[in-house]
Amino acid sequence: MIHGLTQAAESLLTFAAELARRHPRRVTAVLAALMLGGTGATFAVANLAPDAADLPVHTVVESVQTLPLQEQIDALQTRTLRLYRSDVTRSTDTADNLLKRLGVFDPQAAAFLRTDMQVQQTLLGRVGRNVTVEVDAHQALVGLTARWSPDDDGMFKRLSVLKTADGFQSKLETLPLAASSRLAGGVIASSLFAATDEARIPDSIAIQLAEIFSGDIDFHRALRRGDHFSVVYETLEGDGEPLRAGRVLSAEFVNAGKAYQAMWFQEPAGTATAATHSLTKGGYYTLAGESLHRAYLASPLEFSRVTSGFAMRFHPILQTWRAHTGVDYGATTGTPVRVVGDGVVEFAGVQNGYGNVIMVRHNNSDTTVYAHLSRINVQRGAHVTQGQHIGAVGATGWATGPHLHFEFRINGVFRDPLTIVRQSETVPVAAAARPLFNKASAEVRAQLTAAATMLSGNTQ
Ligand SMILES: [Zn+2]
Repeated sequence: MIHGLTQAAESLLTFAAELARRHPRRVTAVLAALMLGGTGATFAVANLAPDAADLPVHTVVESVQTLPLQEQIDALQTRTLRLYRSDVTRSTDTADNLLKRLGVFDPQAAAFLRTDMQVQQTLLGRVGRNVTVEVDAHQALVGLTARWSPDDDGMFKRLSVLKTADGFQSKLETLPLAASSRLAGGVIASSLFAATDEARIPDSIAIQLAEIFSGDIDFHRALRRGDHFSVVYETLEGDGEPLRAGRVLSAEFVNAGKAYQAMWFQEPAGTATAATHSLTKGGYYTLAGESLHRAYLASPLEFSRVTSGFAMRFHPILQTWRAHTGVDYGATTGTPVRVVGDGVVEFAGVQNGYGNVIMVRHNNSDTTVYAHLSRINVQRGAHVTQGQHIGAVGATGWATGPHLHFEFRINGVFRDPLTIVRQSETVPVAAAARPLFNKASAEVRAQLTAAATMLSGNTQ
């Protein structure tokens, strides 16, 4: 490779290095594009319909033509006159510090942003709006664009500030979002969220991933370094920029060397069996067609940044209490506690070491216990449904710090909750929906295989 470098390529790389030194953030994409161009690489693009029930997967393979290097250099030289930078707005943003953070030094532009009503109302002081600026070689503002999707109505807002012959002008538009799907993946180094942040996967997708596989993988305790995943999810974009995340369509998670796969599937009307309740709902299935919906959730705490990998740093007060037969989940006071299965509240109140405690009966043999709560939302005798928030984490009773003490009892005897979840029966796809499911799952399988190949290629 080194020996094969032509003079043009050398100067291109020197130029790229110089660009990278000056503008480290922006240049990654430029370099990536150059590398692709230089090797005549192929792209694979997968598209999914929003409704996974009729998953058409189109794979487009294109060969990329390599441009002569001198042309690439010329193009780059021209482009350096227009630099783009992006950041996310903060609640404390003023016109001046927003521009400063974006590397814009332009008093005229700052004065405009300070006084323009649309900028005042939609951008400054708003949290989490993506802003992109275009600047010239002297860091003066050429244009500014912000896009956001405030409501779940399929639309997004676009605010643009443009430099014109008569000074700056702003424009606010409402435009339709475009549905698309995104394939992403990552390797666990420290936590699931660290890996999804790295892959720029939204939190809502990370949480869905953890919930989908929660019956098989204990995301609170059993993630290992080197575990990896691929995921295809819906995304709603404005001008090609992802502004909202939708549903996970398919995913693979490899935990401790074992691969688990899941796909979203909705049985068409008329084929669903009474037992699946999926006439309108749809759900997640293994690629073999077993529903991932279980009688019990794997965890009484929803997976979140707060609860993930939150290690217990304290021990219950008494040795005897410490020998108790329950599972302790460390979490901050106020974290919602959900009931793991449908049932009836048998007890809701205060009891010795348990503090504020809720006991739920699920059937003749099974009960669950939620202790040390800071808040109780239900009363004795109430019917509760799986996932319902029945209380909140606290430190009442014999607890030295906030945590949830959770017990699963069968005929009064404590059992490991995860074992119970894994043993609970699953419902397969209805026979009538089988042909459609098999077709969809074959496509998902091929896609996940391609994803794994692409992702392992990227990390080499
Ligand atoms: Zn406990």
